[in-house]
Amino acid sequence: MITLRNENCPICKSGNRRLLGKPGKINDVFKKYNEIDQVNVVRCLECSGKYIHPMMYFSEEFRKELYNLDYFNANGVLEDSKNVGEKVTIMAAVKKLCGETRGKTMLDIGCGTGEFLKAGADIGFDVTGIDVDTTTTDYITRKYGFRTVTGLLGPKTFPQGRFDVTVLSHVIEHLQEPSELLAVIHKTLKPNGLFVMCTPNSDSFGEDIHNVYGHLRYDRSKSYYLAPFQSPYHIIGFNRKSARRILEDSGFAIEYCKVRSGLEWEDKTRKFIMRSLKIMGAVLGKGASIVTISRKSEAASV
Ligand SMILES: [Zn+2]
Repeated sequence: MITLRNENCPICKSGNRRLLGKPGKINDVFKKYNEIDQVNVVRCLECSGKYIHPMMYFSEEFRKELYNLDYFNANGVLEDSKNVGEKVTIMAAVKKLCGETRGKTMLDIGCGTGEFLKAGADIGFDVTGIDVDTTTTDYITRKYGFRTVTGLLGPKTFPQGRFDVTVLSHVIEHLQEPSELLAVIHKTLKPNGLFVMCTPNSDSFGEDIHNVYGHLRYDRSKSYYLAPFQSPYHIIGFNRKSARRILEDSGFAIEYCKVRSGLEWEDKTRKFIMRSLKIMGAVLGKGASIVTISRKSEAASV
């Protein structure tokens, strides 16, 4: 079931927004819901992030339908090497800021098929993963033997001050109320703990070209940004400015913020075109993803 709510920007709470259009692409899983006709893609005029308006809330059953193992296996095979290089690079940056890793704890929220957990365990962290569906958490337990929790992270899932490092990779763009999760993450981190947040760059060169292509090929009045009704179902789009905004508002001090090219992510189709777009994006400073590492600051989270 889908419920719509008339809400302000999920990043900065501003009600100032500009309409970008109705979502341009709809896959079969959403077609049975009439509510989707009312959904728009908008840009916040305050923080410059994108979001859908009105906001969509999913029943637990529907959420599981969207994010089961098939979601991570969309191309037919679970690949062990999936973007591992990027995770290893990011964890090396974490180690630099963290110092000694032995005996320290790391949580990966929305751990999917476990690549970040593996990269963390390989450099000495005691790792725990949490994800919403047993098909993914069982997969990780079977494959790596790592500790996993199935469900949504809430204020009671872990004790306060439990983790030295928390990772939230390509999750925040799926959340209706991201500030609530960031407040929980802030509480469950130890003092001076590190928070790694990775999210697609919604203002990347690739996204801009995708939107222009959609206008020319399909419908000029629609938005091809976010694509909330097509896997991977993004409902918020961050750029550098809006990513910084939500982290600072949530009590984190940013120590590392990089836009990455996305070249480590192997494309299954249109390989040459996708690679060319990523190279152009990197040259223009409009790469495919944003990686931040922030420290839990002394100020209380909001
Ligand atoms: Zn905003």
